[in-house]
Amino acid sequence: MRAAVLTEVGADLVVADDVELEAPRAGEVLVDVHHCGVCHSDVHYLDGSLRTEVPVVLGHEAAGRVAEVGPGVTDLAPGDPVVLTMAPSCGRCYFCAQGDRTLCQRFAGLVGGAYPDGSTRISWRGAPVRRGLVLSAFAERTVVPVEAAVRIPDGLSTEIAAVIGCAVQTGVGAVLNTARVRAGQSVVVVGLGAVGLSIVQAARIAGAAVIVGVDPAAGRREKAVEFGATDAIDPGEADVVATARDLTGGRGADFGFDAVGKSQIVETLLKATRNGGTTVMVGMPSTKDTVSVRGLAHAFYEKKLIGCYLGSADPHRDFPRILELARAGRLDLDGMVTTRRPLEEINEAVADLRAAAGVRTVLTMAR
Ligand SMILES: [Zn+2]
Ligand SMILES: [Zn+2]
Repeated sequence: MRAAVLTEVGADLVVADDVELEAPRAGEVLVDVHHCGVCHSDVHYLDGSLRTEVPVVLGHEAAGRVAEVGPGVTDLAPGDPVVLTMAPSCGRCYFCAQGDRTLCQRFAGLVGGAYPDGSTRISWRGAPVRRGLVLSAFAERTVVPVEAAVRIPDGLSTEIAAVIGCAVQTGVGAVLNTARVRAGQSVVVVGLGAVGLSIVQAARIAGAAVIVGVDPAAGRREKAVEFGATDAIDPGEADVVATARDLTGGRGADFGFDAVGKSQIVETLLKATRNGGTTVMVGMPSTKDTVSVRGLAHAFYEKKLIGCYLGSADPHRDFPRILELARAGRLDLDGMVTTRRPLEEINEAVADLRAAAGVRTVLTMAR
């Protein structure tokens, strides 16, 4: 099959036609990937700010159709349209039982690039290929645990649905699951890429009264206002902390969301949020990044700093809700996809993202 392979950190991806994929084993499905978005997490691996062994096939924001099911799979059948999630969960381990589905232990090892027995189901020119971000969806086909494939209605565009798999479930979940924003509250969102704009949309859906979007890119700020931001500022021109306080009677915002993944942003949001307010780390920082909190102030003013992986989502619960919001016209999914490219142009798609051009570039796998 055709797939984009990363052979060396820092190098361009190689689109190869001779990547091999095993048939699905028990509890797995083989999915024909129709579309896959390009996300900052992929770029973190390309740049080396997150570590991976090579060769690896990345890609984790995908939708397509089930082509084949492994033994024991009964809830999906060939032909079913699906969106994939990089956080499959078993529903039975300690973490799933507590409701922390993104922390499921059964599939935790997959994030490291292989199944527990060390196999990856993918090989290239005789050598095993690592699984990047669980799904390895920069490829015509992928084999995933059935728990990673969520059935979507027939007739829905897989090009649009793909963005649910990472950006939208992360941003919407950060607001509705992790932070639980309530009507009338105030929100500051730093970073207005696909995740940040999903946070803006979800904050509007939750009824937030003040939604401040922060991004140096003017096009993204305009998009944020279209999606429901009440204010949009360039951090090079306006002070984030002062703006948050000005718009909230001097208190500071109820919630701050870092949709980039940088300690300076988190530290700024700890100041921009009110006493008792909550800062949510949504973007994935580099492994080398360390956040500092002011000890006494943090305790005395009951500041809250919480992590958020993939919007604390339960994809089988949340994807249908996201699709209902989209169907009702309350969540704009179409507006998230601003560029379409064939898989051959994956390096150009990465350049789009690095240049903050558009919101999301989605790759088409079919020739
Ligand atoms: Zn992602
Ligand atoms: Zn579990």
